[in-house]
Amino acid sequence: MTTPGDIMTTSTGTAAGAVVVDALAKSYGGPTAAMQDVTLDIAPGESVAIVGASGCGKSTLLRMVAGFERPTAGRVLVDGVPVTGPGPDRGVVFQDYGLFPWLTVRENIAYGLRQAGASRREAKESAAEHAELVGLSRFTEAYPHQLSGGMQQRVGIARVLALHPSVLLMDEPLGALDALTRRQMQDELAAIRRRVGTTIILVTHSIEEAVYLADRVVVMAGGASHGVPGHVREVVPVELGEHRDTTAPAFHALERRLETLVHAPLPATAAA
Ligand code: ADP
Repeated sequence: MTTPGDIMTTSTGTAAGAVVVDALAKSYGGPTAAMQDVTLDIAPGESVAIVGASGCGKSTLLRMVAGFERPTAGRVLVDGVPVTGPGPDRGVVFQDYGLFPWLTVRENIAYGLRQAGASRREAKESAAEHAELVGLSRFTEAYPHQLSGGMQQRVGIARVLALHPSVLLMDEPLGALDALTRRQMQDELAAIRRRVGTTIILVTHSIEEAVYLADRVVVMAGGASHGVPGHVREVVPVELGEHRDTTAPAFHALERRLETLVHAPLPATAAA
């Protein structure tokens, strides 16, 4: 079994977790498509945040990468393989933790491993390792209701990471947390990221969170209800090093630039 920190590789030995989003489109049948012509190239181990006004298609994009929804046109490739449905190469963390209340922390983390065919012993060991990875080694025998929201989400993340996905997909994973816990979890996520090296695609409405955690920020705009299909407005690299200071002038400057991009009006011609 692999342990936390192992670099994922493909069958050909190259680093795993390359995601290609190729001319992706999604229509739910209304007059305007939810998304059109979205193309992204994400490198193994890269952390990408997706931001944009409500309804621009962030969650839809993530669900198509996860394989929960089929695109109307275009495709998603993970390590060169087209996505046709959910798969163990992509782990998904949701906002509402989704833990089993009647299982302990260790059992919650081990559950997916057992489902994936691990022996009871392997699952137990790996669950303990992953509880430690997210700083919960003292809480392995606790039940979810005994934990704070931040701790429950750490279990949710550990449970997904225990399955060693090459890509971690997160849709507002910290959205249910209060501001202070959210900040602590952002630190936790940054640390986990450095240890695990998994490709991360994070949907967030927080520009600060995007700048804090991502190598690149994808700014989306439009959306069915705006009369312009959701699309990528700009992809902005975050060149602020590994340990980021949210109070640094360069951090603020990038936040302001992204705020402006997110709130810029849609082209009048396209919206007409
Ligand atoms: P975001 O995550 O950026 O807020 P979504 O991806 O949730 O945006 O939604 C993008 C657009 O697609 C919105 O206009 C939304 O109403 C529409 N949409 C999303 N899911 C569905 C669905 N299952 N059926 C119909 N329309 C949907």
